[in-house]
Amino acid sequence: MPLVAANWKMNPTNIDDALDLVRGVMSVARGHADRVEVAIFPPFPWLLAVSDLLVETGVKLGAQDAFWENSGAFTGEVSPAMLKGWCQWVIIGHSERRLYVGETDEMVAKKTAAVLSRELGAIMCVGELLDHYDEGRSDEIVTGQVRAGLAECSADDSARLVIAYEPVWAIGSGRNADPEHAYKTMRLIRRIVGEMIGAGAARKVRILYGGSVKAANVQQYVELPLCDGVLVGGASLDAEEFAQIVRVTAEVYGHR
Ligand code: PEP
Repeated sequence: MPLVAANWKMNPTNIDDALDLVRGVMSVARGHADRVEVAIFPPFPWLLAVSDLLVETGVKLGAQDAFWENSGAFTGEVSPAMLKGWCQWVIIGHSERRLYVGETDEMVAKKTAAVLSRELGAIMCVGELLDHYDEGRSDEIVTGQVRAGLAECSADDSARLVIAYEPVWAIGSGRNADPEHAYKTMRLIRRIVGEMIGAGAARKVRILYGGSVKAANVQQYVELPLCDGVLVGGASLDAEEFAQIVRVTAEVYGHR
């Protein structure tokens, strides 16, 4: 089943707006729950209240990060064990964390393994910077990130593992990637997953595209043969826009 994930980032800044946003997408997401898995990733402080609203809707909840240890002297961190009760998913290695808080491939590998070991789903993000893209180094960068990020994963994890290909230059820029470039990179990612954790796993792992996805352009990605959905940032903060992304995805996969 395709996955449409809403990464709210550090928004909205108050709980009432967060709950309004969930209410705005809930009925559409629920109505398509048999064809599209929808997951919402609010900031940590809103997780509990949002989880109450999502009970029995079929809409999944996720966190935007998690630490690799389960408890201890790690001020400010949140562990997979703490998220386990109400989240089904965790985003790991988003480019904004790599850029602004210095997350390395090694940290991404440890976090991904920790999340999967708690039987949560992990969405591991990879993608090249604009300079890499312009220099024709996208494949090299993405290969390195996928290899490093999967270092501690096994085939047993594949059903709960998602890799989001998000070219950094496409995130929040309004410049979404050419579908041909997205397709080639997603094909490369699936090949590397196969080399690292086996061909069976490579078939099961879901691969998403992310980067300036909107209702108006989502179809060209979800139509790609190797694309299992989208990770949506800015457009997920507009309930009607996000609902339309869910509808288009349901429509495309309904015809597959
Ligand atoms: C993201 O945050 O993962 C993302 C893809 O953002 P945007 O859709 O705003 O480009």
